[in-house]
Amino acid sequence: MSSLIDSEVNGLFVTDKKICVFCGSDLLGRSDKKYCDDTCRNNHHYALKRENLSVIKYINNILMHNREMLNQLYKNKNTIINKDQLVECDFNFELFTNIYRTKKNEEYKVVYDYAYKFINDNELVIIRYRENNRQVNVNV
Ligand SMILES: [Zn+2]
Repeated sequence: MSSLIDSEVNGLFVTDKKICVFCGSDLLGRSDKKYCDDTCRNNHHYALKRENLSVIKYINNILMHNREMLNQLYKNKNTIINKDQLVECDFNFELFTNIYRTKKNEEYKVVYDYAYKFINDNELVIIRYRENNRQVNVNV
């Protein structure tokens, strides 16, 4: 929106100048217009969709990487590993698919079909996790 000062500088009273959301061109005509034409509208919607998809893809890749690392390190039920083993392979501790809280109020971070919990500052336990029947082995 142009300010009153802009309007005075221009020497005439203009209504709010609007530009196309996609290409930035001046918009003429109807004040509710957001785009020059259908091409700009379509391009803008496509760009937004692509942006959203790339964010989703990025997060999915991290989650799948995390899952793969847990899968490789998991040996048997209640596998205990060192935190460094995950840090070394770029495990992302910020992202997980769910939080599983046991009856003992222990909190596991779920990554698809695996879950892990820190048992001290350096070590964590990996378990298998099944969403449907919550059949997890928690014997730590
Ligand atoms: Zn445009």
